[in-house]
Amino acid sequence: MTEAVPEAVKAALDDPFAQLTGSLSGTRRLQFEVVSSRELSPHLQRIELTAAELAGFSYLPGQDVMLLVATDGRRPVRRRYTIRYLDLASRLLTMDIVLHGDGPGERWVRSAKPGDRIEGIGPRGKIAAAPSADWHLFIGDDSAAPAIFAMTEALPGDAVATLVLEVPGPDDEQDYSAAARTRVSWLHRLGNPPGDPAQLVAEAAEVELPPGDGHAYLLGEAKVVLQLREVLAGRGIRPEQMSPKAYWGLGRANAGHGEPARDA
Ligand SMILES: Cc1cc2nc3c(=O)[nH]c(=O)nc-3n(C[C@H](O)[C@H](O)[C@H](O)COP(=O)(O)OP(=O)(O)OC[C@H]3O[C@@H](n4cnc5c(N)ncnc54)[C@H](O)[C@@H]3O)c2cc1C
Repeated sequence: MTEAVPEAVKAALDDPFAQLTGSLSGTRRLQFEVVSSRELSPHLQRIELTAAELAGFSYLPGQDVMLLVATDGRRPVRRRYTIRYLDLASRLLTMDIVLHGDGPGERWVRSAKPGDRIEGIGPRGKIAAAPSADWHLFIGDDSAAPAIFAMTEALPGDAVATLVLEVPGPDDEQDYSAAARTRVSWLHRLGNPPGDPAQLVAEAAEVELPPGDGHAYLLGEAKVVLQLREVLAGRGIRPEQMSPKAYWGLGRANAGHGEPARDA
């Protein structure tokens, strides 16, 4: 059994999240144990975690958990990953995590084995499916697929959703099971580096927008998300119809709180 950050190290941390107050009120600290880790697709690892604190845990599909993956001196290094599934009865929380190359989050994911322990804080995140939207448009890269699928699968049967997902290649496409009427466009990088806006932005410029007041969810690399907002704004989508969220920043590690650094 390995602890991502041993208790003695944790106790000595200069931790901005020592108290779960302010933006963290409503979250709880979760003492996770790894139940399983397996390759879901060539670039995606599925990790199942359990914790006693999952008893009575509630969250909105699309929300995430922040894991304490490492330390940097006395500073905690946390990474955020979406709750793909939660089975309350068996207290099993599933995350799907992109294997993109290297980073403290990825190093923990690659080494994780049953019995390993890691601290989490959650649920986090403000983006959930807009209940009154006439249609839903989800656009993102592979890091956003868990949030996009979790939100899509939570939509009612009379909802209409379009999913635009960029993944490394055809083997990284995934199944999902939605009650809503959905249409999905898989875009393949085919060896091109992630974080290039070209494909997602071109699709955002052309994707059919049904009549009525819809909602667009734009998730993934920081500058790509920015460009997606601009393209959709140019197509008449108002700011309040968009939920943009930067998940990572090209060429730059996320900050210790798990999001791209402000000036990234
Ligand atoms: C709310 C929220 C929910 C998220 N949910 C998920 C999720 O469910 N699954 C998931 O896989 N990710 C998710 N992410 C993204 C994930 O937290 C980041 O990718 C994070 O940077 C990974 O940490 P790391 O330590 O591996 O890499 P870092 O140390 O942050 O970065 C190291 C290097 O890797 C590059 N890099 C980081 N992430 C990626 C990537 N996805 N693709 C290509 N290059 C990358 C960086 O540009 C940098 O050069 C989420 C992020 C947020 C904010």
